[in-house]
Amino acid sequence: MRVLDRGDQLRKELDAARALGRTVGLVPTMGYLHEGHASLVRRSVAECDVTAVTVFVNPLQFGPTEDLDRYPRDLPHDVEVAAAAGADLLFAPPLEDVYPGGRPAVTVHVDGFDDLEGASRPGHFDGVATVVAKLFNLAGPCRAYFGEKDWQQLQVVRRLVEDLSFPVEVVACPTLREADGLACSSRNARLSPEERSAAAVLYRALCTGAIAKAAGECDVAQLMANMVAKEPLAVLDYAEWRPGRLLIAARVGEVRLIDNVEVPG
Ligand code: AMP
Repeated sequence: MRVLDRGDQLRKELDAARALGRTVGLVPTMGYLHEGHASLVRRSVAECDVTAVTVFVNPLQFGPTEDLDRYPRDLPHDVEVAAAAGADLLFAPPLEDVYPGGRPAVTVHVDGFDDLEGASRPGHFDGVATVVAKLFNLAGPCRAYFGEKDWQQLQVVRRLVEDLSFPVEVVACPTLREADGLACSSRNARLSPEERSAAAVLYRALCTGAIAKAAGECDVAQLMANMVAKEPLAVLDYAEWRPGRLLIAARVGEVRLIDNVEVPG
């Protein structure tokens, strides 16, 4: 696996691969790679000839009071995980390469995502859409792998691709979980041992909610909220039903976690 730090290098590599008739898979991440990321990389490796993982902690998608500075980073570890999962390229650009001058003059806004994460994190999805548009332009025609863990983000990216006609096929990948159900996340590394066990309440609430919903229960949001309320280390942000999905966000200690599950039927 080769590590690149300039956008023009990435473009050149992937153009050259496509010129040889190879298909390209792109796995955008913010690094501190875990098994969830690795599952996306393995899926891309299985389905594409060349897989490029991107590692960039995008300041644009963090609010002024959020955890940008405390977001975990470990590039040597990311290189190991991406290589072990079979990636061919790892693109880890410095801020200046992505946003000359530190901030972009052009940003992308996808309408219609102002609830849930959009409400709790104003501007977050603009940051996501802007960096993803940039990465898609650098990468060129490809399949792009995104996790269902970030459910709304996945819908934002789908809409971005559709409306701006990016030559990208978005591939949704299932959420990888720890043994107790907690969704793998880079932020889990910031949980104390007590918070780490408390964090399992998110998935427990989602599962209980999904069973209740399938049984015809209407107020599953309240049910999930009650479960989280019983966990002293967790503070609920939202627990909501949307057609086909239950979504939850909570703070465990200082760490904000999100998760969601499908509700069949
Ligand atoms: P992040 O580094 O958190 O921005 O995530 C990069 C990509 O990995 C996104 O598409 C996420 O949805 C996906 N991802 C993060 N956690 C998981 C997980 N536990 N299972 C599957 N995909 C994940």
